[in-house]
Amino acid sequence: MSAVATEHLIKPHGGELVDRTGDAPADLGSLETVQLSSRELSDLDMLASGALSPLEGFMGQADYESVIESMRLSNGLPWSLPVCLAVDGAPSGDRVALTDEAGTPLAVLEVEGVYDYDKEREAELAYRTTDTAHPGVERLFSQKDKYLAGKVTVFERATPQFPELALDPVDTRRAFAERGWRRVVGFQTRNPIHRAHEYLTKVALETVDGLLIHPLVGDTKGDDIPAATRVACYETLVQGYYPADRVLVAAFPAAMRYAGPREAIWHAICRKNYGCSHFIVGRDHAGVGSYYGTYDAQLIFDDFEPHELDIEPMFFEHTFWCKVCGSMASTKSCPHGDDDRVVLSGTKVREMLGNGEVPPVEFTRPEVAEVLIEAYRS
Ligand SMILES: [Zn+2]
Repeated sequence: MSAVATEHLIKPHGGELVDRTGDAPADLGSLETVQLSSRELSDLDMLASGALSPLEGFMGQADYESVIESMRLSNGLPWSLPVCLAVDGAPSGDRVALTDEAGTPLAVLEVEGVYDYDKEREAELAYRTTDTAHPGVERLFSQKDKYLAGKVTVFERATPQFPELALDPVDTRRAFAERGWRRVVGFQTRNPIHRAHEYLTKVALETVDGLLIHPLVGDTKGDDIPAATRVACYETLVQGYYPADRVLVAAFPAAMRYAGPREAIWHAICRKNYGCSHFIVGRDHAGVGSYYGTYDAQLIFDDFEPHELDIEPMFFEHTFWCKVCGSMASTKSCPHGDDDRVVLSGTKVREMLGNGEVPPVEFTRPEVAEVLIEAYRS
């Protein structure tokens, strides 16, 4: 490992970057096993890398209760979403092996306890709805009935879907330091980047040293655009339209929970661990359907004292090309009417791409449209 000084970057959440990787125990073969769901596997890998610092394992009851009630760990540190492992019942031993869906052991968990939880209550507090049409709530209601708590030691990391983009917090921090960045803005996305988001990442970049484009590549709901297509779009866009020494693209291995406001806080805290000092929060961040108000994911940051999260949220409006301004703009910066603005609905864009039509250059870069049209064809 190179010895690039990273002390000038923002401190990880809780002060120290957690590392929960280690060796497999000699008695691994004799341990009871617990098979993880895809969301739990994402969480496990993020526990291993320190992306969920200061968490060292799946949450115990005190942290869980405190998080769902007050968006804080039991020690008072802000934390907005449960990171829990659902099981049928208590294991017999004091350690269990955690396996992937194929049964391959990845980690050992030191059993701290098993506790009951109320799915309705978790849904109401964490997701603000108990409607099972909500994908996060649906998953919550379909999981097992107890939570297993304990520290994990991960000896087999998940095989990354995009090896060249698989950067742990320690790696992104080193990359930022090597580039001489101190202030870095993180951009969470689970969609291709069109002109609107290109614009707001660049507006943010104007005020800091570097930009981390950090697409979520864990589980998303079925109708989201596949990660491989999105990654191809990001690479094409960055190559053509961003200065190479000011931008880094890396994969964010989290699974979507679609918890809207609470997930916006959680996304910000995770990015702080990756070394970001700033975080872009658009309208309806991490939302789905119409479960959350347009600005809820921005307003929730006011539930914390200034600087308590440390990472600075940067709030944005919807942006668009305005024909009169002759530039990208938002309702905040452009006085013109709808007729002067190039705004296309998601449905309209999908329809155009599906027909092999390139949307207007004011809406999307032609190179990005090409990638998407190609993906629709195959
Ligand atoms: Zn205008």
